[in-house]
Amino acid sequence: MPNWVALNYNEPIEIVSGKGNRVVDADGKSYLDFFAGILTNMIGYDVPEVREAVERQLATGVVHTSTVYLLRGQVELAEKIARLSGIPDAKVFFTNSGTEANETALLLATYARKSDQVLAMRQSYHGRSFGAVSVTSNRAWKNNSLSPLNVHFLHGADRHLAQFKGMSDADYIAACADDLRHVLATAVSNDVAALIAEPIQGVGGFTMAPDGLFAAYKEVLDEQGILFISDEVQTGWGRTGSAFFGIQDHGVTPDMITFAKGLGNGFAVGGVVARGDLMDGPHAVGLSTFGGNPISMAAANATLDYVLDHDLQANAARTGAIIIDGLKEAAKRLSVVKDVRGKGLMFAVELESPAQAARFMEESKKAGLLAGKGGLHGTAIRMAPPLTLTVDEAVEGLGIIVGALEIIDAEAA
Ligand code: PLP
Repeated sequence: MPNWVALNYNEPIEIVSGKGNRVVDADGKSYLDFFAGILTNMIGYDVPEVREAVERQLATGVVHTSTVYLLRGQVELAEKIARLSGIPDAKVFFTNSGTEANETALLLATYARKSDQVLAMRQSYHGRSFGAVSVTSNRAWKNNSLSPLNVHFLHGADRHLAQFKGMSDADYIAACADDLRHVLATAVSNDVAALIAEPIQGVGGFTMAPDGLFAAYKEVLDEQGILFISDEVQTGWGRTGSAFFGIQDHGVTPDMITFAKGLGNGFAVGGVVARGDLMDGPHAVGLSTFGGNPISMAAANATLDYVLDHDLQANAARTGAIIIDGLKEAAKRLSVVKDVRGKGLMFAVELESPAQAARFMEESKKAGLLAGKGGLHGTAIRMAPPLTLTVDEAVEGLGIIVGALEIIDAEAA
């Protein structure tokens, strides 16, 4: 068995079936899935609405995949996403993954601005292709790749430096805006194309920039016409509870939003929604053979309709608050817990060491809950259950998480 299969656990888990918000492994053990696949199964497993939509599409006999013909499913989905994005005169281009979505956004931005200079955030993760790795900021995740882009990394949610310790949010935001102005005046050699940022850093450990930071950055970007790309691969579709796309929480309208993961509820679909003037014209992206294929579109339309019809954003706010409040309460008596953070159904617990994070994964697995690891030092436990999580499941999951933390706390004492 190759190493990477067991990244999260000592022994890899083979999932063989799923129903609701639970999955079952090859040994018949059932788990509450607090990672939603990998934020992919946004509305859980074996959802009749999604299965039937895909089956209906298959039954037409048309799995005719091409961007040079009109596909009704693409048009319908694009119209919904354009409307929800809040981007004026928005247009959508579909891909098969988040990586391709970011690649497309970078292509559009660098072409539109005739510049290879891009700004990104420290501790960011944007995917595995040549361009996406360039704007990813963590040596381990970059795979020592050489960068085709000229990238400058801003602090954003990464407040690790000694000089930021104890600073108020307002002072930190002012320092970041100042730093951005300084980078633009000193570190770049021509106009900058874009800033790409995750509203909550996913692989980076669900770290969050203070409220007001993105607005402060945007003000500086606007002075020079620099585009803002919000990577919503993890934060989109109401997951944060307080906004449909994470950046909307910050009162910022980006020029482009990239998305993927949960939209197809397990079927591969991603894309970019961008200002029409960026999407049109000689630099239009135009073609992706499998992007926007009829099966993905059927799954994605059914998934998005389900999210909207059941107001799952409100459910994320409600069930997420139960868990986050409960974890914050438990953290008061558990000294191994260094931080509890998150919004809606996207929350993390920061432990002291990678060994403790590994212990948490094993203990919670034993108790029947799946989670994810991440962060700069591999000390963050990341959790992002399906948006369909029930109140009972939130309470059950909270109990398992706290139980695992208690074991680790007792061991550390
Ligand atoms: N952007 C963010 C914020 C992600 O978390 C990921 C994947 O984890 C990606 C982009 C890349 O998406 P994909 O793995 O679908 O290519």
